[in-house]
Amino acid sequence: MKWDLSVLVRSTEQKEIQTQLDEMVRDAEAFALKYRGRIAGMSPALLGEMLDEKDAVSTRHESAAKYCSLKFSADTTDPVASALNNALIKAATEAGQHMTFLDIELGERLMSQPELLKDPTLGRYRHYLERMARAAPHNLSEVEERLVLAKDQYGIVKWSKLQQKWLSTRSFHLNVKGEEKELSLGEMMAFLNDPDRETRRLAHQEVGKVVSQSDTVWVDALTSICGDHLEMTKWRKFSSPLSSSLIFNDVEEKAIHAMMRAVEKHVPLCKEYYDLKAKLLGIDRCGDWDMLAPLPSSARKYSWEEARQIVSRSYYRFDPAWGKWVDSMFDHHRIDAEVRRGKRTGAFCDDWFAGKGAFILMSFNGNMNDLYTEAHELGHSIHAYEYFQKQNLSNCQISFCMAECASIFGELLLTDMLIEEAKSDKEKAAALASVLDTFTYILFHAGARYRFEESVYESISAGESLDAKKVCNLWTTARTRMMGDAMIWPPESDWTWARVPHYFMAGLRYYNYPYIFAQLFVFSLYRLYKEQGKDFVPKMNALLSAGSSLSASDLAKQLGFELDQEEFWVKGIEQAEEMVRSLRQTMQ
Ligand SMILES: [Zn+2]
Repeated sequence: MKWDLSVLVRSTEQKEIQTQLDEMVRDAEAFALKYRGRIAGMSPALLGEMLDEKDAVSTRHESAAKYCSLKFSADTTDPVASALNNALIKAATEAGQHMTFLDIELGERLMSQPELLKDPTLGRYRHYLERMARAAPHNLSEVEERLVLAKDQYGIVKWSKLQQKWLSTRSFHLNVKGEEKELSLGEMMAFLNDPDRETRRLAHQEVGKVVSQSDTVWVDALTSICGDHLEMTKWRKFSSPLSSSLIFNDVEEKAIHAMMRAVEKHVPLCKEYYDLKAKLLGIDRCGDWDMLAPLPSSARKYSWEEARQIVSRSYYRFDPAWGKWVDSMFDHHRIDAEVRRGKRTGAFCDDWFAGKGAFILMSFNGNMNDLYTEAHELGHSIHAYEYFQKQNLSNCQISFCMAECASIFGELLLTDMLIEEAKSDKEKAAALASVLDTFTYILFHAGARYRFEESVYESISAGESLDAKKVCNLWTTARTRMMGDAMIWPPESDWTWARVPHYFMAGLRYYNYPYIFAQLFVFSLYRLYKEQGKDFVPKMNALLSAGSSLSASDLAKQLGFELDQEEFWVKGIEQAEEMVRSLRQTMQ
């Protein structure tokens, strides 16, 4: 259950690894010396060679860099791992500084000569260059960019820090099973997932009460950060406050609007699911404080070997090549699932281009949830396996919206498997609820967060001066639009917006829709699989192996769909509706 990282380095000696990191910086410096200031005059063939060399330089040092970061994730208390990780951060920053000229000079070249995008000599980098060309017109001059960075330190960055500091220094009081406790926000948030309903309700009430006492801080921080974004939207000549995030996520505005329309037409599904969740929890009706309540799990425990068998079987069934890949992840010791102190919390899959593989970190306790985590992360490794076979490194930069294609798909394959093999209705219900709980929360709650952010920009643009009452009103309006009366909303729920960290983080504008995109895109794919059966398998493989060589909308076109039509998105919702019906049946 532990991974073997030794394949990543020539020697695990600290000195030897530091030498490799130094080489990484030197290679980046040599690359800059060779090409900086020359991109404007280079032939397409030379540009192609330069990009090949860029990929080769990154690949040469990838393994050593991965060794440092993965070793640290596996044990954050190990002083050697910590030193190596710090050395990596320093080396990567220096190497990155040497490479900054590339995007700027290439962007300018593409603006003056857009026909380069169609040049067959550069075909293997087409979409990589298209993304760069889309961003380039919004760059400011070098002096302006430096001025923005300098001013941001005392502007939006300070506002973000003030909000975080303020929130982290508040004290919260909670009665936990008869004992009065004074807690920090982090400790308090954990109680929103507490199995005891009254504890959750009190925690939710207290967070709302304390947050509402600092209304001036939240309103000023929010309106300053959003106002700054609107100002920069004008300076950078973006058509709307949404535009910069669309370029970053490699998606089109029309697609996001179609997706949101599809979600809004299905708001009753939100209540339908939470009514079932109330039944699962044994209560009359969910309140806001029950949204994150843990689901009653099926009591069944799985051994590591059993879990491996179930998950790999669910992948084999879809495509034997996927199953074999999953097996090789186990056989080559690429998964660290042991529960131990010092290990990073949560789970991730880190892909490894140089070795055409991946590494997974998670903690396996034998619950159904752990099976889902395992399936999810192995899905990421299958995605990596697919694009590594066909693409160069520049085409393996998967956007947020598309990064969950194989991972969420894997969760749905696992759900089917668990339902078929379930020994009781309770087990079936646990599997269905496990995917539906995330789906519903993301579609409708993240949907409300998206609409709220949109309305803040609209209000500021219209010259309205916002106070706490008005901002709370914007939140409840967005929430009603996306979630209706899905649950009981106590008065403190008006303040939910004030404790959502990303609203206050500089650079994280429109953070929510990629999550909705990822869920719904994959549920739609799954629906197509259900409709087309085996015929769908090569289509899914083509989609995954394209990596980032095509945009999401071009990938959807290959499946015969337009992302700016609601039809595709509705398929995903229909898939969820069917699962809600199955869940209801298991509960009768
Ligand atoms: Zn994931």
